[in-house]
Amino acid sequence: MVRIIRICIKDCEEMLRRFLILTLTLFLVFSAGCATTSSRFKPKAGSRSEILTLETRGYCPCGKCCNWKRNWYFRPVVASGPQKGKPKKVGMTASGVKAKKGTIAANTNRFPFGTVMYVPGYGYGRVEDRGSALNENNIDLFFKRHKDALHWGKQTKKVKVWYPPGR
Ligand SMILES: [Zn+2]
Repeated sequence: MVRIIRICIKDCEEMLRRFLILTLTLFLVFSAGCATTSSRFKPKAGSRSEILTLETRGYCPCGKCCNWKRNWYFRPVVASGPQKGKPKKVGMTASGVKAKKGTIAANTNRFPFGTVMYVPGYGYGRVEDRGSALNENNIDLFFKRHKDALHWGKQTKKVKVWYPPGR
């Protein structure tokens, strides 16, 4: 009887050890996954690249950052400019993808959609959006929260730029 209990305790210890190892493995895999999420913006091999000094500004999907307001029917519409009053898809970029961390708005005559950038302090990103007031030396960096966009504010950065293949 005592022997059976002892074996049982040993088995339990073994199971606990396995459980801990599994948990730790899952945790490491998960945290590594989080750490490398920005790698999906890494440039394609052979892309033409250069380093430019650009004025960067933080932005978020809010009406203040993205020039929209709610109309009488509570639907989001463009607040001002030539598109004033037109329906606005909040949180969607000009290229038609969902805005997320790493989304960059730029003057697309200068930096076409798909241009990959590395901004020190922000990380890798890709041009997926346009900004109404953006010239060739300005880019906007997407943040989920207005607070974080404000915290970034305006910063002049040495940005590494990789143009899409063929540009
Ligand atoms: Zn905002």
